[in-house]
Amino acid sequence: MRGALPHALPENGGFLRVRFGEEMGTNDRKKIRNDVILAVVLLLLAAAAMLFWQLQKTEGDFAVVLIDGVETARYALDTDTEVEIITDGGGTNTLVIRDGEAFVETANCPDLVCAGHRAISRVGETIVCLPHKLVIKIAASTDAGGVDMAA
Ligand SMILES: [Zn+2]
Repeated sequence: MRGALPHALPENGGFLRVRFGEEMGTNDRKKIRNDVILAVVLLLLAAAAMLFWQLQKTEGDFAVVLIDGVETARYALDTDTEVEIITDGGGTNTLVIRDGEAFVETANCPDLVCAGHRAISRVGETIVCLPHKLVIKIAASTDAGGVDMAA
């Protein structure tokens, strides 16, 4: 410690730098940790908001039946029903609405893609039967042409 000046300066300087650096490091780590917590909280909030939006806003009200692009019928999702849709050329698809979801139970199309499709219930979701040019689409009552507009 009592060495010549050239020795003393680097020692002190080094000691100070190390201490200073450690303190900065601790503060930085705390700051980074706070930033991470904040980011995680924001992400969770965003995820919760998206989930809420998905569950609340996009749940459909109707299963709309389109044959060759033309709407032929729509069925309320809150009423369980089963209807046979007959398309040009004798195509049949059995549309089932159950527990607020719509799905094609059976069909006589060659590929049966429609019958294999999972149940749909959210606005914009579709089940397509290409061989029958049939589309079943979920719509909200706020969509243009919603039947409850007639009241
Ligand atoms: Zn099909």
